[in-house]
Amino acid sequence: MELDLRAVSSSAGLPGTVSPKTWTFAEIVKQPDIAARFKRVREYFFLRESTYDMTRRCNVRCDGCYFYEGDKQNAQDNVDPAAWRALFRSEKERGITFVVLAGAEPALVPDLLQVCYDEIPRGAIASNGLVKIPASVGYRIHVSVWGNDATSERIRKAKRMLERQIEIYAGDPRAVFVYTFTRNNIEESSAVVEHLARSGCKVTFSVFSATVGYTGTLTHTPQSLAATHRTMLELLRRFPDSLLYSPYSAASHTDANSLHALFSCPYPRQNPGQFGLGRSFRQYRSDLTWIRSAACCVPDTDCADCRHYAAGSAIVTSRMNRHIQSSDQFRAWLDYVDTYLAVWVQGYAKGANLCTSDVSPTLAMQNDASGGTP
Ligand code: SF4
Ligand code: SF4
Repeated sequence: MELDLRAVSSSAGLPGTVSPKTWTFAEIVKQPDIAARFKRVREYFFLRESTYDMTRRCNVRCDGCYFYEGDKQNAQDNVDPAAWRALFRSEKERGITFVVLAGAEPALVPDLLQVCYDEIPRGAIASNGLVKIPASVGYRIHVSVWGNDATSERIRKAKRMLERQIEIYAGDPRAVFVYTFTRNNIEESSAVVEHLARSGCKVTFSVFSATVGYTGTLTHTPQSLAATHRTMLELLRRFPDSLLYSPYSAASHTDANSLHALFSCPYPRQNPGQFGLGRSFRQYRSDLTWIRSAACCVPDTDCADCRHYAAGSAIVTSRMNRHIQSSDQFRAWLDYVDTYLAVWVQGYAKGANLCTSDVSPTLAMQNDASGGTP
């Protein structure tokens, strides 16, 4: 996780701040609950991420899929394990310590997944969950869920999708089921999450984020975002042991402002500078090429509508410096980071959420080190 630490050490007396500071960051992090959680998540500050499209093939075709937009879908798949091994060795030398394998469908190229795992053993795979990935590939596996079976059949053209995903991945400690809220599947989420919870599955949430030019029916409205927010909090209350999520995650991903508008996206596509993710992140296509100007974890997504869970995992976690106005704001950020690590890092166990008050993500807009009370 790449932090933007430029303002964190500015604890007092910034020129131009409106009100005098009554706290320091050092005081906030001395509080016992915050100190313990901060110590725990700091152990993962070394993570440096890049993403890789493993193949352009997929066994389903979903409405609104970001992969089949833009020209990345036209890359010719490199299927040579030696070429992938060489790439991952050079990525390791470049300092990459965490890989996200996506595509279209990575489960269709298990040999390449194994090569990647053998070189860089921390990472996650984004899969539709219909083909079992061999147990020897020890990455986190994110199984995408877009609703109940009737909905999936309609927008993903796949029958019995949820049932098949559960048959394959229930009980697999690598698996996290990612429920993507669209404008149309909010009500059914309750039954789907209950079914997953009763099947012993871990669940997290994403929010549908339209690709540039998408004109389908899945795009959110202000009303559907608000309904999604309420539903997420209710599900978090009902299924605390199954959900890997936090109230601040819900608030950040359902705000009327996109993640980019709230926190300023640090991926190269929006951050051509050479700081943090803008310097280290690459998004490789399945022919092993990459383009700086297009590089982010969800290329071809419309930045003005970006609320994707993968995007937030980098965008919000990197903005620690915008979450130090108060103890509760910093607790909310810690809850977000704790959620991110539990979802993405195999073996990291989610802690209890620390923040008990509503913290608005809009407080973090353009705020790099302003005043407040602890
Ligand atoms: S399963 Fe994933 S990659 Fe395949 S079409 Fe659906 S969204 Fe796209
Ligand atoms: S789509 Fe999201 S993650 Fe990608 S550049 Fe835009 S804001 Fe960043």
